[in-house]
Amino acid sequence: MKKVLVLEDESSIRSFIVINLRRAGYDVVEAESGEEALDKLKENPNVRVALLDIMLPGIDGFEVCRRIRVTNSHIGIIMLTARSQEMDKITGLMTGADDYVTKPFSPAELTARVDALMRRSGGGGEERSGEIRQDPFLLNTRNRTLEKGGQRIKLTQVEYAIMKMFMENPGKALSREEILDLVWGRDYFGELKIVDVNIRRLRLKIEDNATNPTYITTVWGFGYKWGF
Ligand code: CA
Repeated sequence: MKKVLVLEDESSIRSFIVINLRRAGYDVVEAESGEEALDKLKENPNVRVALLDIMLPGIDGFEVCRRIRVTNSHIGIIMLTARSQEMDKITGLMTGADDYVTKPFSPAELTARVDALMRRSGGGGEERSGEIRQDPFLLNTRNRTLEKGGQRIKLTQVEYAIMKMFMENPGKALSREEILDLVWGRDYFGELKIVDVNIRRLRLKIEDNATNPTYITTVWGFGYKWGF
């Protein structure tokens, strides 16, 4: 089972995170102080991703991160930050962390970030098993198929490539140029419009309501983003 540690002193936020990660299929270990988190990690050496709140009584999240990294370089670490405006300061401090999530965050954003880190750290084994799961979607990279809520969705090869790109980059805004490069290749001399055309068609297939898309969202004047 894929195990995640959640360190957060505010019990309402902690239970929100725990419930949503369990719902997404994770085995969750909870801690409400930095000291407790370090103890729990010793007891659970198979934890693959740790979510660390920064502002805590006792040692703070940065210190917990630093102490984890002294002995453990393979665990994925996501910092939970209070405000995006603090990011300048925070990025300077989060030397050992892999990612951060700004509060308040949606369950979908949170699980997508944990999933992505699980995959990168090899902990989920999803890449090896040939599957990328981001509920309700399941992408099978071996036979190049997509399911939504257990139902197969027929995709063209380009649509499949777009889905794979999105699911490998959850929550990241991708420019139309980037998408063109990633999906069609750098040698492709087509127009950016082809990106919009394919995404419009993909939305008709995968969105609950294509006129109000929630999975593939538009980043105005830039490109698109997978979800959230
Ligand atoms: Ca806190």
